[in-house]
Amino acid sequence: MSELKYCQGPDCHTYNTKDRLKGMKGSKTYQTRRRSNLLWREFCDTRCYNDWFEEYGTRAVDHFGRLKEVKHLTEDSAWVKRYRWDYERHNGEPEHYYLNKITKEQRPLTEDQYNDSTYTLNTGE
Ligand SMILES: [Zn+2]
Repeated sequence: MSELKYCQGPDCHTYNTKDRLKGMKGSKTYQTRRRSNLLWREFCDTRCYNDWFEEYGTRAVDHFGRLKEVKHLTEDSAWVKRYRWDYERHNGEPEHYYLNKITKEQRPLTEDQYNDSTYTLNTGE
């Protein structure tokens, strides 16, 4: 049997669902959910995920580094890989291309280039 993970939601045990209510008659308690696989990273659902961020989010940002200036996506680093289906022009084959998110320029890509995670037109950060 795989090891169970505990939902990290600080209020998980306070939500009254049948699956959280455990124990013998007379000593039942609502308990933190345990799962072999938590669907929301460390949490059982989005409510617990949001509860955690509400409680600890500010401290977590301060701990890992607060952004203190605007970040820029430049034209040199705005290329993204895309594909589209154009049945008239490509006989049912997907057409791969680069799109610059700022200039909207498009450049053709081969399927191999599309699948190669090291292949990029981006030269900026
Ligand atoms: Zn939970």
